[in-house]
Amino acid sequence: MTHAEILIVGGGIAGASTAWHLAERGREVVLLERGEIASEASGVNAGSITSLGWGHTPDLQSHLTAGSVEIFKQLALDLGHDVEFRVSGALSAIHTDEQYAWARDRAHRLREQSFVAELITAREARAIEPHVDPALPGLMHYPVSAQANPAKATRGFADAAARHGARILANHDVTQIRVDGDAYRVSTSHGDVVADTLVLAAGAWCPALGDMLDVRIPIIPVRGQMWATAPLPPSVFTKIASVESGCDWARDSGADDTTPPELTIRDGKRLTRHLYGRQTRDGEIIFGGDRQIVGYDKAIDPAGIEVNRAHAAQVLPFLRRVPIARTWAGLMPFALDGKPIIGRLPGHASAWIVSGLASSGFGRGPMAGKLLAEYIHTGHRPHVLTDADPGRFASGLSAYAGARGSAPTS
Ligand SMILES: Cc1cc2nc3c(=O)[nH]c(=O)nc-3n(C[C@H](O)[C@H](O)[C@H](O)COP(=O)(O)OP(=O)(O)OC[C@H]3O[C@@H](n4cnc5c(N)ncnc54)[C@H](O)[C@@H]3O)c2cc1C
Repeated sequence: MTHAEILIVGGGIAGASTAWHLAERGREVVLLERGEIASEASGVNAGSITSLGWGHTPDLQSHLTAGSVEIFKQLALDLGHDVEFRVSGALSAIHTDEQYAWARDRAHRLREQSFVAELITAREARAIEPHVDPALPGLMHYPVSAQANPAKATRGFADAAARHGARILANHDVTQIRVDGDAYRVSTSHGDVVADTLVLAAGAWCPALGDMLDVRIPIIPVRGQMWATAPLPPSVFTKIASVESGCDWARDSGADDTTPPELTIRDGKRLTRHLYGRQTRDGEIIFGGDRQIVGYDKAIDPAGIEVNRAHAAQVLPFLRRVPIARTWAGLMPFALDGKPIIGRLPGHASAWIVSGLASSGFGRGPMAGKLLAEYIHTGHRPHVLTDADPGRFASGLSAYAGARGSAPTS
């Protein structure tokens, strides 16, 4: 039997960052991960860290994005973890007149709020990214966006936690949680742990852990899939994206009672094309974008990969001639309303959650963990977490039950 002051379940970026920031504040932390650290979404994502800066009135999204960039800098520059972090900037391609009008308005709105974003011509973009198609009507440029190696970075956060005394226990599958007086008795594949405070950071698997506590957590697993070329000489320097999905989702987010907003495919029908990619340090060019509800199935949909590849080649035409070397998929934790869920679990004085980071949890997870650590440590909720309150789902959850499918504990 192990005792933990604070027990964190989940060794992705959200759990690892929470562990680091609690341990750094002198708290006694145990983190349980059923596989290896970074073995799920946090290790297989595209490594894109989206940021537009803080803006003049930083809200939750600014804190999570710009705040996370600062934490990545701390990890890479101050603590010396080589996680392939760099502020590369990002370019988002415009394909049509309608998208151009949308992007122009967006650039205007963002700059009014002091965010770092500009609308540039294809010629200007080619001075930054030489292989961009010169025929594109324009591109959005986000100079302070960044990138990093997701598996290395997530393990870096766990290592930073361990250096402050956190116990990081891989291959510990949490199978049962019981409330035992003021404590939580947590059964794992390697024995029981009794904890004063419990943090759920289990990504797409949070609902199964919530069930153990009789709390229904409206997180839906959404499959994201990616493809990579074989290693190539340096040819892509920024992150590459497209405004197509943003423009389409602004018109119709695609959400309904059982579907979170901003998916690319709903009920088997394509709603839009989403695109993000970059070249990794080892030379692979990686791209992805699709977001689809298929339960906990991580099998690849080859048709979706082909759509994504054709989209990427509309931005970087040389990709038409480069074969796909490998594909993979992972599960993203989407809350039913698309917003993060960070805070105290309804009905529990000492159980917390950090999840719902959806399709951008790599770029937002570090600050999500730091904000939750601050809340747990001080007992005071950072004001920006109001919008991430888990209590907002305390009623009206019936619709969500069918959407997530069966949520296996392993
Ligand atoms: C293909 C793909 C591309 C993406 N690209 C990007 C991107 O470029 N930029 C970006 O910002 N985001 C991206 N994302 C989203 C991002 O990866 C996720 O939002 C983020 O990793 C979620 O982190 P997490 O720690 O909440 O969950 P996870 O990384 O899934 O971690 C949860 C952990 O909990 C563990 N766990 C679950 N149940 C138990 C249990 N019972 N006992 C013990 N441990 C358990 C799991 O094994 C897992 O390791 C992408 C996601 C995918 C799938």
